[in-house]
Amino acid sequence: MDVDSLKSEIQHLEKLQEIDLEIFEIDKKLREIPDILSALKNKIEELHEQIEQDKTTYKEAERWQKEHERAIEMQKDLLAKSKAKLAGSRNEREANAAQREIDTIKRALNEREEEAIHIMEVIEQTTESIRQKDERYQALQSEFEGMEQESRKKASGMEDSKVRLGDERKQLLKTINHRNLDLYEKIRMRKPRAIVPAIKGICQGCHMMLPPQTYNILLRSDRLSQCPNCHRIVYCTDKEICSMDGSGAK
Ligand SMILES: [Zn+2]
Repeated sequence: MDVDSLKSEIQHLEKLQEIDLEIFEIDKKLREIPDILSALKNKIEELHEQIEQDKTTYKEAERWQKEHERAIEMQKDLLAKSKAKLAGSRNEREANAAQREIDTIKRALNEREEEAIHIMEVIEQTTESIRQKDERYQALQSEFEGMEQESRKKASGMEDSKVRLGDERKQLLKTINHRNLDLYEKIRMRKPRAIVPAIKGICQGCHMMLPPQTYNILLRSDRLSQCPNCHRIVYCTDKEICSMDGSGAK
């Protein structure tokens, strides 16, 4: 391979790498889509669970409320009976006993009524909490649907790009020497950027200074060279030196 064919081989490999990196980025984005969607889906499910919990609390509070209402009615009946007893008492002893009954019932009734107010508050708070969460739930749900639709559109666009890049890649492969292609593919399995320039003697893959003997070989060789540190294919872009080398080779 002469210097000029090596130059065009490098250009083809660079072009190939451009395509491969683009495909790599597309694949990354395609993989991210389900993650983004499922994160939002989880949030929605979490909220749904909270709403269900609130609804359970609400039902429980409603049950307490009914129980309390029944208990209050019973206490009121008892109170009426005790008041009747007091009115019909024939002596002081009977009157005192009836009065004590009335006091006890009134205290119990008071407690029940205070508890009923507390239950009412719980019901109100839970109702409001359900309303707010439900509103948020609806908003997230429609956000999810929009996102899902958008993602499907985006993914199909990206799949189209991949097909186009794949065709371009296939054409390009025909122009590259098999041995060089194998080397490129082998490096690419570990590093997405398999071919890099050396600028002023520095490998642009690992940013290490190439040893002088490697750099000299790089300037004069008619074969692909590799960085001794990161093993990427490395080529010279130092125009002045390369052109000097080119003219020297003629
Ligand atoms: Zn390197």
